[in-house]
Amino acid sequence: MLEIRPIPAFDDNYIWLLTRPDAQAAVVVDPGDEGPVIERLRRAGLDLTGILITHKHGDHTGGVAALLEAWPGIPVFGPANEPIPAVNRPLREGDTVELPGLDIGLQVFDVPGHTEGHVAYYGEGALFCGDTLFAGGCGRVFSGTHEQLHASLQQLAALPPATRVYCAHEYTLANLGFARWVEPASPAVTQWETEARVLRAKGEPTVPTTLQTELSANPFLRVAEAAVIAAAERYAKQSLPDGAAVFRALRTWKDREYD
Ligand code: ZN
Ligand code: FE
Repeated sequence: MLEIRPIPAFDDNYIWLLTRPDAQAAVVVDPGDEGPVIERLRRAGLDLTGILITHKHGDHTGGVAALLEAWPGIPVFGPANEPIPAVNRPLREGDTVELPGLDIGLQVFDVPGHTEGHVAYYGEGALFCGDTLFAGGCGRVFSGTHEQLHASLQQLAALPPATRVYCAHEYTLANLGFARWVEPASPAVTQWETEARVLRAKGEPTVPTTLQTELSANPFLRVAEAAVIAAAERYAKQSLPDGAAVFRALRTWKDREYD
């Protein structure tokens, strides 16, 4: 059975630590900083056997070189369609990653939009989606396009509702503030905000969430809901022909007026 724990890094990043109770092997996802990873592995007596990368940004890759110095020769899995020098096992849609030493396979999805070659990893009911889908929100469009990010989120939204969503940042409360702008009357947003505040007050992560929770309250997955369409059209001051247009209006609204 896969065990998944967060290693907090920087102000609000989560590096995900993958282990199993009967093994000393450990795999990390998106080690932006080596310091907290090395400390956690040494303290737990774990041996790093592999690294997974979702996309090229420094807060997800910055620790890879130092981890390779400490554990030479381990595989670094990451997107084939993105320039990440340390990646030695390039991956694309349809590939499966066998987690070294853990005897568990994860499927690879291409989920471009935040960046042009972003990938996600899925298996054992868990989704590692980097900066594509966040709890209550989604990543900004940097080197991909709005159309790509919308399509990628729709692809992730079609996974089983019980899927646990392990995103790479603690942005939940800020994201739910914007969700409230979009759907002020939503009981799902209110309930989630209350739960997230309790967790943050205790210093605990609000992630993973579930896809079901995201579908109930994350406006970027709810582009076919009448209330969300109406809010996006009010902001855009025009009628919006499809989900991709609603998505673009929401993302633009949040970038320009909320963040
Ligand atoms: Zn990023
Ligand atoms: Fe990031």
